[in-house]
Amino acid sequence: MGRSGAIKQPQLRPGALRDLNQQLHRLHKRAGCPTTRDIAKRLDGRFGHTTIHNAFSKPELPSFKVVSAIALQLADRVRDFGPGTDREESLDNIDRRIDRLWKEARYEEDARANQAEPPPLSDATRGLLHALSPECSVCEETRQLLDIVLMEDPDPTRWPPGFRKTGEQPEAPDPWRLIRLCRRCQRNHQEGELTEQQLRAARAALDRRPGAARHYAAYLDQILLGAEPAIDARVAALSVAIVRADPRLATNPYALNHGRIQVDRAHGSLSWGQYECTDDH
Ligand SMILES: [Zn+2]
Repeated sequence: MGRSGAIKQPQLRPGALRDLNQQLHRLHKRAGCPTTRDIAKRLDGRFGHTTIHNAFSKPELPSFKVVSAIALQLADRVRDFGPGTDREESLDNIDRRIDRLWKEARYEEDARANQAEPPPLSDATRGLLHALSPECSVCEETRQLLDIVLMEDPDPTRWPPGFRKTGEQPEAPDPWRLIRLCRRCQRNHQEGELTEQQLRAARAALDRRPGAARHYAAYLDQILLGAEPAIDARVAALSVAIVRADPRLATNPYALNHGRIQVDRAHGSLSWGQYECTDDH
């Protein structure tokens, strides 16, 4: 009986998406495992056979149009729905079940996206990320909902105690692990289409945008003035290095925090001591 088009099932966590996918595979089997090219042909080429193959094999929710067309096409080939069952009723039931499962899967997907805990970050860090990239840092679109997302730590080596001063908040992320993403890019990231490496590349590109150094200068002053609960020496040093690389931002050394910190942009250094206080009182 023709060529058999066995299709691999994706790995899915329990839930509506998995139920929907299993339903599709069951129908496929009952319809005699037609190839995806054959299904595409019988759908008058409305969808490419790759799209149809993806609906069976990818861990993402396919579009409703695609799933429902495939399901009904397959159901149409099933000769016998069991003794004593009404054919029309069975087709109706499949249609309704697909519709319900698809909606549930969509709902679960959105709920998961909303559940993602925002990373703990101060207003200064949030402000920096927003200034560096008012739009989504990957697709550069502004239309969709934007969230700041924490990336994996590419270098999880521990800094020596005392050097990393955020001891009070060991989980406080550094700004180079944070990126602003739209909902669609977040979804792509969760589904593995957008890799950590691509995220890191997009984040690194922000530091090379015109004007980035000025935002780091403002951020640096903010954290030194106490906007962060503790000063992370590594974050401060990297910020000062970015500021120093932009000659337009050269200034004379200046004191912050009632003269307790001196910022010397030209030399890229911060020093703690007793300097002349230039703050307004
Ligand atoms: Zn995006």
